[in-house]
Amino acid sequence: MSARDPVADLRRIAFLLERANEATYRVRAFRSAATALAALPAAELTERARTGTLTELSGVGDVTARCVAESLAGEEPVYLRRLVATEGTDLDEAAGALRAALRGDCHTHSDWSDGGSPIEEMALAAVELGHEYVVLTDHSPRLTVARGLTADRLRRQLDHVAAVNAALPEGFRILTGIEVDILADGTLDQDEELLARLDVVVGSVHSGLRDERARMTRRMLTAIANPHLDILGHCTGRMVSSRPAGVTGPGDKGHRARTRAESEFDADAVFAACAEHDVAVEINSRPERQDPPKRLIRRALEAGCRFAIDTDAHAPGQLDWQQFGCVRAALCGVPADRVVNTWPADRLIDWTRTHA
Ligand SMILES: [Zn+2]
Ligand SMILES: [Zn+2]
Repeated sequence: MSARDPVADLRRIAFLLERANEATYRVRAFRSAATALAALPAAELTERARTGTLTELSGVGDVTARCVAESLAGEEPVYLRRLVATEGTDLDEAAGALRAALRGDCHTHSDWSDGGSPIEEMALAAVELGHEYVVLTDHSPRLTVARGLTADRLRRQLDHVAAVNAALPEGFRILTGIEVDILADGTLDQDEELLARLDVVVGSVHSGLRDERARMTRRMLTAIANPHLDILGHCTGRMVSSRPAGVTGPGDKGHRARTRAESEFDADAVFAACAEHDVAVEINSRPERQDPPKRLIRRALEAGCRFAIDTDAHAPGQLDWQQFGCVRAALCGVPADRVVNTWPADRLIDWTRTHA
């Protein structure tokens, strides 16, 4: 086995200890050992490891000396291996806690637009998952390929939802909503009166995704400033090919898995506007979307935005994809109190009403 870089391994250990919030003296022990050893000629390092005299150097103790010996022998130091394993656990815990904090899903589709199942089936699957609510957000008129709902069909859907709600178990309800297209000029593709009446309005760009940067930025800023908008859906429109293990093709219409680059826009301006107008940035959990990418989630977090971790489910089983969004949110350090669907339904609605 060829030798590893012992200095790099020590620095990595220091980094992981720091990240896990371990005591400063432990972090410093590895970092000063790394500094001391980096200054040493390679031949002397090897010789001292062989003769067991590394600890004679200032800043190098028994634990760090053992790590160096293991690295030089070509093995990942046991200490490092344990930290890497724990690191995974911590992240899983953070993602799990976020998932456990979610009370509902703000972006789902039924067979009224391009989903595969009736509203009742989506609702029952959400009940099974332990949700307190699910927001039904079928598409708007211009998205004809996805059978977007005209104003009349949406009105009929609202009556239908009221009837379905009356028959659902106590403690669960379907909230009304829409995934409204953000049109080329930034206006929203549905009647003003209906947008005002719905519990939750998610706005997404589905056309002209290759708009040039300044134009796309203006378009998004206009939509975000619209008093009806509550959540900005899958903001970059990207499609990634990779899928988490265990997930096969989505098999639903309207969301074909193919690669598509991110739309170009001024992310700082867009997230600043979301923070100003209190519009939540969606973390779309669909494996082929993973939108926004992590670097943009971090920027939105820094800008002070709220988030909604949603599935954009087009079938009942996809309602369980929220965990994928939670993993990405946890990786970016998104705290639960910034996520609007950790709130009970009434609080969520109080918040969306602040947007008219
Ligand atoms: Zn969409
Ligand atoms: Zn959608």
